[in-house]
Amino acid sequence: MTHSFYPPQRTLMGPGPSDVSSRVLGALARPTIGHLDPLFLHLMDEIKTLLQFAFKTNNALTLPVSAPGSAGMEACFVNLVSPGDKVIVCQNGVFGGRMQENVERCGGIAVMVQDTWGEPVSLDKVEAAFDEHPDAAILAFVHAETSTGVHSDAKALCALAARRGALSIVDAVTSLGGIDVAVDEWGVDAMYSGTQKCLSCVPGISPVTFSERAVQRIKERKHKVQSWFLDMQLVMGYWGGTTKRAYHHTAPINNLYALHESLVMLQEEGLAAAHARHRRNHHALVAGLEAMGLAMAVAPEHRLPQLNSVLIPAGVDDAALRNALLNEFDLEIGAGLGALAGKTWRIGLMGFGSSERNVVYCLAALEAILQQQDVAIMSGKALKAARAVFAQD
Ligand SMILES: *Cc1c(COP(=O)(O)O)cnc(C)c1O
Repeated sequence: MTHSFYPPQRTLMGPGPSDVSSRVLGALARPTIGHLDPLFLHLMDEIKTLLQFAFKTNNALTLPVSAPGSAGMEACFVNLVSPGDKVIVCQNGVFGGRMQENVERCGGIAVMVQDTWGEPVSLDKVEAAFDEHPDAAILAFVHAETSTGVHSDAKALCALAARRGALSIVDAVTSLGGIDVAVDEWGVDAMYSGTQKCLSCVPGISPVTFSERAVQRIKERKHKVQSWFLDMQLVMGYWGGTTKRAYHHTAPINNLYALHESLVMLQEEGLAAAHARHRRNHHALVAGLEAMGLAMAVAPEHRLPQLNSVLIPAGVDDAALRNALLNEFDLEIGAGLGALAGKTWRIGLMGFGSSERNVVYCLAALEAILQQQDVAIMSGKALKAARAVFAQD
């Protein structure tokens, strides 16, 4: 006999998924209703309005794609890139590489702008790429690089794309809810996010939004979108309009209850307050880590408050330490990815998981395990340093 699965209560402080609140988990367990039930259609309208609030946009084409962040990424590329289109893709971590894959699979030409992992996208390099490729149709970049913990200047990059007559595609999977995102003010043309990072919902849904200019580009396409499921012209018939909704696919109904609840929680707190909470907890965590003698991997001005890359001190067994945190403290932190594998840990303070409790818990657990591994650290100082930050306001 196979038995029911009861996962342990972990504290999730990696690159996502983040801790999900009992309010959101409770929403998930409400009765399933039909996806064309009038009450569900009303819920869809509310989710759309809440997403417009979160993205700070009036874009009519704003909806949750029924699949994880990677599908939101793909939805932006397959709808906006036609065969032969040149797309300038910025890469300063793992996710820019996935954008390149998407462009090429759409028959587009990816012009890569490479930056060092751990640094933001260079505006000068992007300018130079446009000089060399004035016919580039799109600029694509990652706002919050989860693989490194770096924040790029989305506002300036979108303005640059607009000046060059190109559309912008922005990855906001890790930024939405954690740091400021302002789609209309910045002139973003297509943006996608995910539910399991700073929205602290369960994984499996990707909020997306498209500007009027992007919608126009989609309508003018001469080639059919290569993906039937992600073709926005078809999805719009289901999510768009206010009158009749046509069946396209069955929405993940209970996941959408959960997304609705997490967005209601974000609205209750307010965007500015949520961002301030992320900043404060980040400063406390960094103060604690530095008091312990650990060093951050990213320069202070480029750090993401929701994803903290820490350099692994010499002599530490990376995998053994993360296993010990998981087994002894039920605490998950992230490993370094790609070029940073084995060199960094990624400590997430995302959404509901960005709390004083998690900062203190992580510092105490990390200190205990580092001591167990006989790593030379300054013990007994981290919590005091973190508390000093909390005491500031
Ligand atoms: C997590 C992440 C993705 C992918 O999202 P999934 O939900 O895992 O498919 C894409 N981009 C960035 C920046 C991410 O952090």
